[in-house]
Order: sequence, then structure tokens, then C-alpha cells
Amino acid sequence: MCNYETEHYIFNYTAGSKAEEDILLIASVQEACYAYICQVLGVTLNFKIEYFLCNSPEEVGTIYGDNEPCNAFTRPPNKIYAVYNENLKCIGFHEDAHIISYTINRPKSAAVREGLAMYFDRKWWGISNLDWTLYYLKNNKYISVIELLNNDTFFKEDCSLTYPIVGAFTEWLINSYGIEKYLFVYKENDAFFALEKEYGVTPNVLEQQFKKYVSLFKIDEVIEQRINELLLCNKK
Ligand SMILES: [Zn+2]
Repeated sequence: MCNYETEHYIFNYTAGSKAEEDILLIASVQEACYAYICQVLGVTLNFKIEYFLCNSPEEVGTIYGDNEPCNAFTRPPNKIYAVYNENLKCIGFHEDAHIISYTINRPKSAAVREGLAMYFDRKWWGISNLDWTLYYLKNNKYISVIELLNNDTFFKEDCSLTYPIVGAFTEWLINSYGIEKYLFVYKENDAFFALEKEYGVTPNVLEQQFKKYVSLFKIDEVIEQRINELLLCNKK
């Protein structure tokens, strides 16, 4: 493998790959994501993040060890394996947000970890976390954040359902009460306990407040149609 090193990253890729062709662009995108995430979370890292840019989901699956095709994954403390080819470019905020936030803590609840990564992504398949949440509420597919805090429920449901919902909830939490309060929750392993302790109300009440906020918005018909198409495509 070849590599390219920047101030905060080491990128590994194979010779002749699309990643090699775009390496300067990839490096500048990741450095910018890195600066933003560190600024928001108020952290400084004392190590470099190492990226392995793979040609296919199968290649990522082989490296992960379960041979299950996968677009990207993080191996703490500092490694990220991601697909980068002509059609699929798995770079951006998500995996870096995991690596950087794990220097604060790695909360037990996947909903909290993915919620923060999705807070930085803001979008799932190009559509905002808020629009996805509006869609699921309108179509009676919404799953309660309280239930999603339980890992069994979180992993049982499809990512296209769980990720945008926890992302929208995290956005609302940070925007309404500030990042400092949120980081206290992130530092605790028991999310139920931490939410009640920091926000002074039960998680249930918090979720009611969140849904009330979401209900102030309406989903655009074109976006709803696009979500229907995306979900159908994903099923095939
Ligand atoms: Zn993630």
C-alpha cells in the first residue's frame, strides 16, 4: 500500500486506485472535518488518524474479519477503513467523529455514539436527519429514542431508520441545551441516568419535547417521495 501523510492523518491506499487519484482532495476534506469536530467537542488528539481507503465493501469486510461487505468502520483508537471508488466515497465526518469522540468516552449505548456521529453528518443519503424523522413520524414508522437507547432494539432495526432519528434527537439536544451539558451525558455510560441527571427531567419528557419541536416542521412532498424511492431501492 502507498501512503500520504498530513498534519493529523495517514492515508493508505493502493497504487492506481481512485483514492490515489483524489488523495489531495480526500486529505483536505478530512482535515477540515477534523478541525470542525475537534473545535465543537473541545478536544485535542495526541495521535494521527490512520485511514485505509479500500476499493470495495468486500475488501473492507475482509479487513474487518467477518467477510461481510461493509462501507466503513472504525477500529479504535485510531484506524478507519472506508470504501473509496468511482461510485462510493465513504469519507466525511462520520468515522472521524467516532474516533475523535472516543477520546472523551465510548458510551455503552450505540444510539448515543451514532447520534453524535450523525449530528456531524447532518444527512443520511443526502436528506437531513430532521426530514427523515418527520417522514417516520408521519408514516407511523418512528421508533422512540428511549427504546433505541437499548442496544438490542438499536441493532435490530435498519440503519436508515435508527441513524437519522438519533441524529435528529442529538441535534435538538445540543442546539437547545448546549454542547457542555451534552458532553456530560456523553461521558457517562448509562444514558438514561445521565440524561435525567443533566437535563432534570426523565428521558421520556425530553423525547416529548423533541417531538413537539419536530412537529413545528412539515416534510416537503418531493423529499417524501425521494425517501420512498430510497427505501425501496435499499430493500432490493
Ligand atoms: Zn457510526
